[in-house]
Amino acid sequence: MTLFSDLGLIEPLFRAVAGQGYTKPTPIQAQAIPRLLEGRDVLGIAQTGTGKTCAFALPMLQHLAQKNKKHPPKGARTLILTPTRELAVQIADDFAIYGKNLNHIKRTIIHGGVSQGPQVSAMASGTDVLIATPGRLLDLINQRRVDLSAVEIFVLDEADRMLDMGFIRDVQKIVRTLPKDRQTLLFSATMPDAVADLVKTLLRNHERIEVTPPSTTVERIAQKVMFVSRDNKRHLLADLLKDGAITRAIVFTRTKHCANRVAEQLQKGGFSADAIHGNKSQNARQRSLNAFKDGKVRVLVATDIAARGIDVDGVSHVINFEMPVEPESYVHRIGRTARAGMDGIAISFCDREEMSHLRAIERQIRQPVPVDEKHAYHAAPGARGPRSESNDDGDRPRSGRPSGHRPGGQRPRGNNSNGPKKPGGGGKNRRRGGGGGGGGSGRPWENRPQAA
Ligand code: AMP
Repeated sequence: MTLFSDLGLIEPLFRAVAGQGYTKPTPIQAQAIPRLLEGRDVLGIAQTGTGKTCAFALPMLQHLAQKNKKHPPKGARTLILTPTRELAVQIADDFAIYGKNLNHIKRTIIHGGVSQGPQVSAMASGTDVLIATPGRLLDLINQRRVDLSAVEIFVLDEADRMLDMGFIRDVQKIVRTLPKDRQTLLFSATMPDAVADLVKTLLRNHERIEVTPPSTTVERIAQKVMFVSRDNKRHLLADLLKDGAITRAIVFTRTKHCANRVAEQLQKGGFSADAIHGNKSQNARQRSLNAFKDGKVRVLVATDIAARGIDVDGVSHVINFEMPVEPESYVHRIGRTARAGMDGIAISFCDREEMSHLRAIERQIRQPVPVDEKHAYHAAPGARGPRSESNDDGDRPRSGRPSGHRPGGQRPRGNNSNGPKKPGGGGKNRRRGGGGGGGGSGRPWENRPQAA
């Protein structure tokens, strides 16, 4: 077993980690930290919840502490690009925690949605660690308020989400302003072709480290699906929340509008709930997140993008009020309840129009989601004949949406559409499924088990 003391970390970092109560490094930490300390480029195939922030923060802090230089005006010695503001704040907090026993290491956060003035002032004298979202950073580079020509270490975090959110071009433009002689780290939960291309252009002689495929996280989570009509979803949610076992829950919706409505309905029903989504100001989002973390709010209603930054331990339940359109979002969503090795429960509300999403999810996770029919609002999802590939189109949403229109404004992703896909045929962009269920009939979603 690897210990933190085996990784070559300097004492102040070792002490900070011990102070956090971490007894042993997570797999990505054990594998990445020694390589990064050697100065190698690293490709980390890992999602949030695997301890990846600590895996890159510790070697970066060690580098800054050992190669003690002054950061140039407007410049940064290290840069972390991350897709959302919440993640940027979270990463900055983590750097503060892990770096607390070192001589002062300056951190600066740059993200959109707030005025640029304080960010420009903070960058005037330069910084040691710059944590930024791509859009605002590129703005400030173009305004010559930020100069990245002295960056020694560059981290591209959540590269696949960058792609999802349409940031890849901005990322490429930012990369062009970095010096060629640098250490680069790229993290991504999945490897779509565009990310694989980035890997080729950004990394040099890199070490590839792959940990915790989604299915491993998925396997730790007790999942079930409840068939319910759209109109009854809110009643079902209120019923479920009467159970005190749901101590801290994230409820996912596809749209901001729905997130607001669900939070309001819950509040009216006497539940402590709040909504978090992209229309809220950064401060409001952070307030809601803090209240949720502190246990003052029991239910946080969130959209997918807002949820990216939710790093809260002890989430007992994830409830998909609306099924995600993209199967990979399902894995991200339910992963919020199994952080740092804990188990969790994920419940999905599925109406008849969402059946095709459910099936796409089952293919992604290569296992059927057990059905729980024992609730007051059970609505059989229509004729449930044998589940076969050819059955798929017949179950597409019947709302008469024009083809190509996706609810919630979500964009299709590469080859990751909801269209029929061969069972078990993960393809090169799929994470490998830990051996779960791909064999046998080849249709693991047939003979659905009932939830206990
Ligand atoms: P991340 O993957 O960076 O989002 O981290 C997920 C969570 O794991 C965070 O809450 C960290 O505080 C926690 N964590 C990171 N490293 C360890 C460790 N070695 N032992 C226990 N918890 C950890």
